Amino acid sequence: MRIDVLSIFPSYFDGLTLSLLGKAQQSGILDLRVRDLREWAFDRHRTVDDTPYGGGAGMVMKPEPWGAALDEIVESAGPVRPTIIFPSPAGEVFTQKTARELANREHLIFGCGRYEGIDERVFEYAAELGEVRLISLGDYVLNGGEVATMAMVEAIGRLIPGVVGNPESLVEESHEDGLLEYPSYTKPASWRERAVPEMLLSGNHGAIATWRREQQLERTRERRPDLLPKDDSRQD
Ligand code: SAM
Repeated sequence: MRIDVLSIFPSYFDGLTLSLLGKAQQSGILDLRVRDLREWAFDRHRTVDDTPYGGGAGMVMKPEPWGAALDEIVESAGPVRPTIIFPSPAGEVFTQKTARELANREHLIFGCGRYEGIDERVFEYAAELGEVRLISLGDYVLNGGEVATMAMVEAIGRLIPGVVGNPESLVEESHEDGLLEYPSYTKPASWRERAVPEMLLSGNHGAIATWRREQQLERTRERRPDLLPKDDSRQD
């Protein structure tokens, strides 16, 4: 998969060279290219923002650098129609389902907004180049799209086949089957007077699977009843 990121703070993404996503890039599974939007600014000061029409606080990102950057990236990627993602607190909320859906795409472009956001016409123009998605990390406001993009790239990247060594570890995780994950324990069996649940030491795999399922349901009911189907959200 190819992922291009446009940002005025490209060094935010240095962390994505580490760990599993770093290895995925080294092995060629993931082609991650981070570019400074200012490369496409056209004045001496490499300006990417200006005052908002109609007045109001803050600055808005100018459309011209975005247009030129998107043109160049889309052209360099050949005939594949990209999915162009603009992180935005005013977008659809990012979930594991979104991550799964985007992990199937061949080419993603992330456009990281700053200031009060990006001139609205950029989204319209981008829709001529590919599928446009405005995606929110959650109902709060960040300073820029970088942290949201990093979270999304990590959640999507780990679903690309070959990125996570043992694919089974993906199946059992929180949100994969609509429930939160069951509690996990490792050695020692007793630590600071806290014992690992007896069931996990029983060696009875069928019973352990049932216990884990019950734990998932209980945890989800307690912490995230909104995830359960309507008739299963009781707090018993
Ligand atoms: N004025 C915008 C609004 O009220 O919708 C917020 C702009 S915010 C300060 C600057 C940038 O941060 C946004 O363009 C977006 O890229 C990013 N951002 C902020 N909160 C976000 C969130 N919850 N999810 C995704 N991106 C976010």
